[in-house]
Amino acid sequence: MDSITDGNGQVTFSHVGELLNIELGSAIDPGDTITLTIHYRGTPGLDPSGFGGLYFSGAYTYNLGVAFTSIPHSYGRAWFPCVDNFTERNTYEFEVRTTSPNNAWCNGELVDDVEANGERTRTWRLDKPIPAYLAAIASAPYTTMQDLFTSINGSEVPVALVALPADTSNMRASFTNLPIAFSCYEDWFGAFYWNKVGYVLTPLGAMEHTTSIHYPRSIVNGTLTREDVMAHELAHEWFGNVITCERPEEMYINEGFAEYLSYLFLERVYGRQRYMSLMRTNHRNMLLRAHITDEGWWALADVPQEWTYGEHYGEHSYNKAAAVIHSMRAYMGDENFSNGLTSFIESHAFSSVNTAQLRDHLTQSTGVDMNDFFTDWILQPGWASFEVDSFNTSVSGNLFPTIVHVQQKMRGPAAFYNNVPIQVSCIAADGLRWDAPSTATVGGEVSSFIVEPPFAPAQILLNTDGDLSLAITTDSTTISQSGSTTFNIADLRLTVNSFVEPFQARVEEYWVAADEGSEENFAFVVSPDRWWRVIADIPEGTEIMGRIIYDGRNNSSGMDIGLMQNLSGLIFNEDSLVLLYRPDQRSLWSVYPDFSVNVVGNPTDRSGRIEFNGLRQGEYTMGWRKSATGIGENIASENGWNLYPNPANDVLQVSWKGKGSKEGSLRLIDMQGRIAMEVPCTGNLTSVDVRSLAEGTYHVLHFPRKGPVKTVDRIVLVR
Ligand SMILES: [Zn+2]
Repeated sequence: MDSITDGNGQVTFSHVGELLNIELGSAIDPGDTITLTIHYRGTPGLDPSGFGGLYFSGAYTYNLGVAFTSIPHSYGRAWFPCVDNFTERNTYEFEVRTTSPNNAWCNGELVDDVEANGERTRTWRLDKPIPAYLAAIASAPYTTMQDLFTSINGSEVPVALVALPADTSNMRASFTNLPIAFSCYEDWFGAFYWNKVGYVLTPLGAMEHTTSIHYPRSIVNGTLTREDVMAHELAHEWFGNVITCERPEEMYINEGFAEYLSYLFLERVYGRQRYMSLMRTNHRNMLLRAHITDEGWWALADVPQEWTYGEHYGEHSYNKAAAVIHSMRAYMGDENFSNGLTSFIESHAFSSVNTAQLRDHLTQSTGVDMNDFFTDWILQPGWASFEVDSFNTSVSGNLFPTIVHVQQKMRGPAAFYNNVPIQVSCIAADGLRWDAPSTATVGGEVSSFIVEPPFAPAQILLNTDGDLSLAITTDSTTISQSGSTTFNIADLRLTVNSFVEPFQARVEEYWVAADEGSEENFAFVVSPDRWWRVIADIPEGTEIMGRIIYDGRNNSSGMDIGLMQNLSGLIFNEDSLVLLYRPDQRSLWSVYPDFSVNVVGNPTDRSGRIEFNGLRQGEYTMGWRKSATGIGENIASENGWNLYPNPANDVLQVSWKGKGSKEGSLRLIDMQGRIAMEVPCTGNLTSVDVRSLAEGTYHVLHFPRKGPVKTVDRIVLVR
């Protein structure tokens, strides 16, 4: 820092670390304007992650305005003095001197360009305010491809695609669909706010600096394979640049929307099927691994800064958010989704915004009450699933009024969702499908609704077309020949060995605990992770083999981590895995008669596959036999225990009033059949600290040193 001057000459300052303290000659009031000129030089900073800072790289000099690792992530300070956050905004003018043939690209409009004495001096001006992280500078012997887009407001918007001469034809080819991205976003979210659409090729990126996106050269190869990144960066000109998240913990407002908009772009170019196919894949990946790669279950509105971007690319802020915004669109309908967000951007243009403002604006401007949506999907972590528990049909003229009972379960630490609008379809015995004309509303642990199909339904489907990103993934197809069909989204492979005639197959994978309750009660650990529902009217004589890959490894491919844990005193081994089957939700699980476990080499590495013959319609899950504990039999309850308070909140007291010693342990089993807690017990008063357990009902079992397990009681924990 060389000097700081105001209109009256030099002012006193101190510079310690990242903080610049300036002592003004006289006091100023809010609303006053002062001009300070800061003279500085130095070596610009680089973020240790490899993304962020100002780079000198071969022919290129360029910045990336966010730092993946450094906090704050806003990284204007890498190259100029600034208030480095997401809320403070400034207009910018850059005067950049380079040696020829280098030429500089910055935000906004080129207002001056002088070449003299082997040097080139360019002046760029952006008259609308942006936060420091969106300021851009890049210099190289660039050439420019120019175009004009006509905005929906009638204005002409200049377009600049900037690259080294050798890269121009690739860039033109890879950006073929940029005009569609531009008009797609204008149609959804209103006229473009800025005075240029600009992409500048740089060795690293992508970074959405306003009107001068730094775009990685490596993905500009003349094909369209990464045009989603092109679309994502342009989307920031609406989400991120016109409105910016107030706190980095709410980065979904920038990144989740930008990512979602790249799906809207692909939907516009390639159609709904492509959109849904990509959305389903992303949705499955997030259910599987967002909490693993981001090392925790985070609410979208509260992702710690360590995971905003992170080495795994911020799964919650980007990709889970995209899945949730897909659901937001379904709650609102396309017209309200478009109008509500367009007017939100307009009314908060060039300022920072937060989740409460977004929720309240959408509710007020569209009349769709979005309070439950934000509480359930944005402000808490985890996921919800809705299962059809049972249904009853009556007859009324030509209609068959059917009351459908629905159960909700959670994946991760989420409270029950409320007032969820869900699509309902009925399937007749002959396979005919009827879609209810409007969504039903479900919520809470159990709920019910009535539909009136024109036939007696054999099956009820919820969320038929995948409009909501629930803790369920679904694949469906028509099987029209023998051979294998892999349901990638639902993690099941069918192989038709004996084909009779084509049939429809729908596989739903529920990423929540399978119900407890098997024909041999407590003989198995039943999967707390996932189960399947197969809906297929399989023609007589068709022979189908099924295959499930299991993976309990503690990494981001682990689908069965909860199932494959050791239990107190029992080591999990793949040889004890069983395939469990039940025809419907009202039935108990029983061991599937014809299955085999292929441990694929190692029975303790927690990965392998289960294969089974004679696949039929119904429900499937995995479990493992824990017979070594001797609790294969039904468990009798035992009088003489005293257990209080019930309901309990923080401490549960358990004592034995009957005869004899009760040394052993007490086990609390939750409603999914999982062991929630185990504590030693003598029979005298045992105080059990239950503060770490979730609200709900638990079975308390007594495991004596010798003799049979007995049920103590059921208790309810409340918070
Ligand atoms: Zn982005």
